[in-house]
Amino acid sequence: MTGLPPHRLVTTLQDRLRDLEVEFHEAYWDSQVEATPERDARREELELELRRVKGDTDALDAVNAALSEEIHDAVLRRQLEVLRLSFTANQMDDATREEVVALSSAVESEFATYRPEVDGRRLDENTVHRILAESDDVALRERTWAASKEIGALVEERVRELARLRNYAAHQLGFADYYRMSLELEEMPEEWLFGVLDEVERFTDEPFRRWKEELDSRLRRRFEADVLYPWHYGDAFFQELPQDGRVSLDSLVAKSSAVDLAEKTFKLWGIDLSGVMANSDLYPRERKCPHAFCLDVDRSGSDVRILANVVPGERWTSVMLHESGHAAYDMAIDPRLPYLLHRPAHIFTTEAMAILSGRLVRRPGWLTQVAGVPEAEVEQLADRLAAANAAQDLLMARWIPVMAHFERELYSDPEGDLNSRWWELVQRFQLVTPPPGRDAPDWAAKIHISVAPVYYHNYLLGAMLASQLEAACTAESGNRIEDQATGEWLTQRLFRPGSVLKWSALVEEATGRPLSADDFATHVSGSGHSAT
Ligand SMILES: [Zn+2]
Repeated sequence: MTGLPPHRLVTTLQDRLRDLEVEFHEAYWDSQVEATPERDARREELELELRRVKGDTDALDAVNAALSEEIHDAVLRRQLEVLRLSFTANQMDDATREEVVALSSAVESEFATYRPEVDGRRLDENTVHRILAESDDVALRERTWAASKEIGALVEERVRELARLRNYAAHQLGFADYYRMSLELEEMPEEWLFGVLDEVERFTDEPFRRWKEELDSRLRRRFEADVLYPWHYGDAFFQELPQDGRVSLDSLVAKSSAVDLAEKTFKLWGIDLSGVMANSDLYPRERKCPHAFCLDVDRSGSDVRILANVVPGERWTSVMLHESGHAAYDMAIDPRLPYLLHRPAHIFTTEAMAILSGRLVRRPGWLTQVAGVPEAEVEQLADRLAAANAAQDLLMARWIPVMAHFERELYSDPEGDLNSRWWELVQRFQLVTPPPGRDAPDWAAKIHISVAPVYYHNYLLGAMLASQLEAACTAESGNRIEDQATGEWLTQRLFRPGSVLKWSALVEEATGRPLSADDFATHVSGSGHSAT
């Protein structure tokens, strides 16, 4: 393939990837809406085939050779760079590749079908969540929490093995380990990222301690407990706002369906999601993936789908807004862009849009305009809503570093004492006391560690960018984020360019400055954002 003119090389590889990628996305979707052994096998087979094509060493050599020449066409150059990154990530021998795909598929189906057993009853994810969010029965909470962690022991050895295999492939390419390789291929400098994590740890320390002390004293009273353990908090990982002390919007938003609310939100922004909703699979069912995601099946924006498990209330309304943010982004990318660049600039830029949308559920303007809550009612809640929005992101800012630091350590030493490391990080960042004497692979119960490796930090960068976008949009146009004009601003600045620009350049063009944690710091301190 070396010797082909760069534009021919790009179209050849693009054509080779496109059909296979679309076929894989279809199979992936099928396996998530209803897991069967045949569907799992088909999806695994296509994933392997796709990775094999991307593992073509000759193709990578040709791409590298083309990139070593001067290329003035920026779009052509970016396509070659995108190819270089994705082909490099897939260089490994066939046996390693097969083992990685087989192991990660097996772990993923394990998660998809796992139903923790409590008191002889198998519980689905929404039920586990409801018990931890609502129950006053501490013993039941503890049993439910412990049962939700049992999947960790079930997959632990396979997750360690995945880490070893991924490291092996990274070592062959000269990287220190898989974690470092992944960051580099995401165009994310490790030093910069961990600098940001340190900065966020510093500026959230005092407000988080203050917020958590108040929460803890309420929880101690509620549960009549001297010491609080992980099962006293509102979810299995203490990543969501507990109901205590937050404004529950369940009764306010439950009158409308989460799906209608999401559609209406984006309609106000001038983005029509009715086609997306029609293609989507939105309600819980047996053998269906219990989480939520959005998929642009053919990367044209014309077949975007959401998988969700909507039940009435605030949580799934917020999740639907989040996934709709991803969908809107996928749909609004400039249709003239070539296939390889017809995608968000980076994982975290699409997470930014999703987080920005998910936050709307606690915005007074959204509650009145979209959810139809009477203004007087919202006005009474305004201060508490602003505080809850800040607290949600504060909590996230202390949870994400647990994942990011843990993953870096997992890949630095897959043989290490990971059970202890996990709880050390949970204590350091989330200030949660581990259960006495606990020595279990609770880290492996978090699905992202096995199936979405080196991904989690993108949620923090996404939250930072969400705040930066909001600040830039407000300063420039005077519009609030929930106003109609914002849809056009976001479309032009964030969505349309696809991945023509590297993320750092896109952020600077969109907001006028490089990505920083400044606006996010203002956001989590609960000041600087009008409550209206
Ligand atoms: Zn997301």
